[in-house]
Amino acid sequence: KEVLLEIKNLDAHYNVDGQPVSALQDVNFAIQKGERVGLVGESGCGKSTLLKAIMGVLAPNAQITRGAIKLREVDLLQASQEQRRQSRWNDIAMITQSALNALNPVHKIGDQIIEAIQSHRDVDKQQARARATELFELVGVPPQRLDDFPHQFSGGMRQRAVIAMALALSPEIVLADEPTTALDVIVQDQIFERLDLLQKEQAFSMILVTHDLALVVESCSRIIVMYAGMIVEKGPTHEVVRRPFHPYTAGLRYAIPDPSAEYEPISIPGAPPDLSQQIKGCRFAPRCPLATSKCELEMPPLVSSLASDAARQTRCHHADQMDQLRDRFHDQSF
Ligand code: ATP
Ligand code: MG
Repeated sequence: KEVLLEIKNLDAHYNVDGQPVSALQDVNFAIQKGERVGLVGESGCGKSTLLKAIMGVLAPNAQITRGAIKLREVDLLQASQEQRRQSRWNDIAMITQSALNALNPVHKIGDQIIEAIQSHRDVDKQQARARATELFELVGVPPQRLDDFPHQFSGGMRQRAVIAMALALSPEIVLADEPTTALDVIVQDQIFERLDLLQKEQAFSMILVTHDLALVVESCSRIIVMYAGMIVEKGPTHEVVRRPFHPYTAGLRYAIPDPSAEYEPISIPGAPPDLSQQIKGCRFAPRCPLATSKCELEMPPLVSSLASDAARQTRCHHADQMDQLRDRFHDQSF
């Protein structure tokens, strides 16, 4: 399979009151062509920061201090502003959590899509409008509503319009940052189904950020689990969820009520660490039932946790004890 996007050794921080606050640390992963990867982890762990870094739209006080973001062979972090601008929306598009932020309230939605197309493609207004019409049909909005303003749209229709905009230039990669969380459940399902269909038809690669582990299990072949700015586990979704090798992944897994299972939902006590402080060891150690003094002193590397499967990786000194911990989860003694 062909690797489309590769993130290598990425470190980033935010400058807050003149002090660096770590946001991403040693992030490594690759996305293949046409593949869908789920990115999960609790609020504040750096999911949006990672997508913004890939898209090249980080806040001004953010700084990438190490690593590479390679689209095919090109490191986007070394590219010129102009190359980056060209690549944005054309190669990589982003669907954000709030459609309201993505749309300009004072312009007609159709005009915004037409402008986005014309800023990247040498087409006249009529051709761009034809494409916008086609896109509205694809996402399930009547094309006559191209002439509406954002406030005339329901939340669900706005999010459909944002998806249309993201797909306007047929990007190879779509970064979907909780694309449906702001909507009610029925609309969420409808929109997700549409996105699912479009992804299959158009075969773009997708990184899906969500708090909904069940959605990842249903729809993503691979999963990346983040904690406090780091990837703690990644691999084929079903294997990671069935047999987590990182205690944090197990915590996420067993936090979900499962009527068919023999365990009660649990929650991981404690809170993520203060990332304005230097942390030498494992960032999960203060909350971890397996932590030892080694964990407090040494950051574990992200390594293969199953000799038989190099794609299955975990950042834990004690991954070999996870089979026992999983039994303890069933006894609810996290
Ligand atoms: P959520 O699930 O709530 O969307 P997230 O995983 O997307 O969370 P990020 O938005 O990437 O998390 O934020 C990661 C950390 O960086 C958080 O601690 C957040 O407070 C901090 N952060 C984000 N943007 C900035 C900024 N512009 N300046 C300073 N800190 C920031
Ligand atoms: Mg976020």
